[in-house]
Amino acid sequence: MDYISTRGGAKATPSYAILKGIAPDGGLYVPREFPAVFDKLRDICAYDYQELAFEILSAFLTDFTEDELKRCIASAYTDTFDGDVAPLRKVGEDYFLELFHGRTAAFKDVALSILPYLTMTAAEKNGLREEPVILTATSGDTGKAALAAFADVPGTFIVVFFPEDGVSDVQKLQMQTQQGKNVLVVGIDGNFDHAQSGVKAIFGDEALNARLHKAGYALTSANSINIGRLLPQVVYYYYAYAQMLKTGGISAGEKLDFTVPTGNFGNILAGWYAKRTGLPVGRLICASNSNKVLYDFFSTRTYDKNRPFYKTASPSMDILISSNLERFLYHKCGDAGQIRRLMGSLSDGGKYDFDFESDSDIIGSFADEAEARAAIGKIYERGYIIDPHTAVAYAAYEKVGASGKNVIIATASPYKFADEVCAAIGADSDDAIEQLSELAEAIGNARAPKAISELKNKPVLHSRVCAVGDMAGEVEGFLL
Ligand SMILES: *Cc1c(COP(=O)(O)O)cnc(C)c1O
Repeated sequence: MDYISTRGGAKATPSYAILKGIAPDGGLYVPREFPAVFDKLRDICAYDYQELAFEILSAFLTDFTEDELKRCIASAYTDTFDGDVAPLRKVGEDYFLELFHGRTAAFKDVALSILPYLTMTAAEKNGLREEPVILTATSGDTGKAALAAFADVPGTFIVVFFPEDGVSDVQKLQMQTQQGKNVLVVGIDGNFDHAQSGVKAIFGDEALNARLHKAGYALTSANSINIGRLLPQVVYYYYAYAQMLKTGGISAGEKLDFTVPTGNFGNILAGWYAKRTGLPVGRLICASNSNKVLYDFFSTRTYDKNRPFYKTASPSMDILISSNLERFLYHKCGDAGQIRRLMGSLSDGGKYDFDFESDSDIIGSFADEAEARAAIGKIYERGYIIDPHTAVAYAAYEKVGASGKNVIIATASPYKFADEVCAAIGADSDDAIEQLSELAEAIGNARAPKAISELKNKPVLHSRVCAVGDMAGEVEGFLL
């Protein structure tokens, strides 16, 4: 299968698309067509997570051998997860797909734990002589998940930029305490959109890339602009569907809705890919926090990032430029020229209009800070604790209302945002994580994951902060 750039300039094999991360014309790689995965499964309930991952990834990553893929999958989905990769939790009439049992307690672990293996395999396959340097902007969770996945992987380097004042205390500490000889972690003076744009500029800086190339390095991306991040996320939509079937939540062939707390549009796009490969998905509810640029886009067909930027209690969704939306637009219109024009007007004037046929595929909704907080309180009363991102999804779902069965994608452990969660359930404390552990124990929820509880004993190893304009210099200083 071929991958093509949303901006029309490039064609690539799956492994090459993973290696490059972003196409040379600045576009994102997309599959030329969607393989029929669902129809080929014998009985979806008979597959375990690894087996489903193989069925889905082998349909998309056609130049990986069966052996290579199985090795990647087996290395990724092992005991780095605390039990099941994606358990489904029923709370009253609601279902939550818990995607936070990986190394860093957020859903990005699911894709990032396999990305290093895919990258290394792709590097070999393409005879890459340079050492891959993973360059990543993070709104808080990608950074740590990528660091944990790539730290001390021989022959790789990883550089992470995060908004110095735009991530939670736990998220920051997680990154700043990262060990490993091959890692660089730098805070930037700006928000996530600045970090993301800065990283894209580095990818597009030909002179810098030539210097790096000469010194034996090749930049690649661990952000969800990399198709190797997106595809592994398709798997848990299938897995959720299988669990719903097994437990009698739905019957065979019945459509299932998903509500996804959204920032960069990667997670929900993976759900849409699942639907395009035949999984019986009904509505995909795209939940935004107060930075509701996507909600406005889906209701008005105008994308406009010219608006106040809010720092919210769900920082991983504080995003005004949702990169992966470009893929959705391309799939809708199939016209790379139009995408170039839209992205041009986004970078010039911060907005564009895009009309597409209305279907109920993706429905925008949002929840403000008060609504999200109230949702944490309400779910707590029912014996379960959710994090602020999941809470945005829950509150946004309630506004849209039920139509058939729905699964809320639970993207982070509440312990990662313990202060906010304690405040929402009226449990102020000096030590929020300890406090939350006690509460959770009282209602039968799990205690804090080790990754979080051991943080306070770890030394800070990275405290660099730079201006947005100096990001390229930081990369060069680290490598050259
Ligand atoms: C990254 C993240 C999101 C947003 O996911 P996208 O794929 O960027 O839309 C939501 N919640 C949490 C906890 C995250 O880390």
